Amino acid sequence: MAEQQLVYSSKINKIRSFALILIFAGILLMYGGILSKKIGWLMLTFFILGVIFVLLSCVVYLWIGTLSMKAVPIICPNCEKPTKMLGRVDACMHCKQPLTLDKDLEGKEFDEKYNTRRYKREAAKKNSDEK
Ligand SMILES: [Zn+2]
Repeated sequence: MAEQQLVYSSKINKIRSFALILIFAGILLMYGGILSKKIGWLMLTFFILGVIFVLLSCVVYLWIGTLSMKAVPIICPNCEKPTKMLGRVDACMHCKQPLTLDKDLEGKEFDEKYNTRRYKREAAKKNSDEK
């Protein structure tokens, strides 16, 4: 199998860029509304969609706020800058260094699947079997 060179970005950064895209999309849609003001229903549709997009991005920004509070602040071992991580595995915001809070996963290849509920259940089951 070919060696995979995947770049993981921090989850908070991902959500942040998603919210930014939403805002731009909303503004573009409203701009489209201004351009199509001759056609009443089209203008209305563009405006309503634009407002929905901007409101959605506000919700996403609020969500990031609560997520950041829950995130664990750590110092990245690679670039020594402070970063925050969500879940069991995440990437550094600055250097994209994969990070884990779980000692069991140390040294393992970074994989988003370690954050899924299914993996957590399986790991818990394995632990209880060993005892
Ligand atoms: Zn780093």
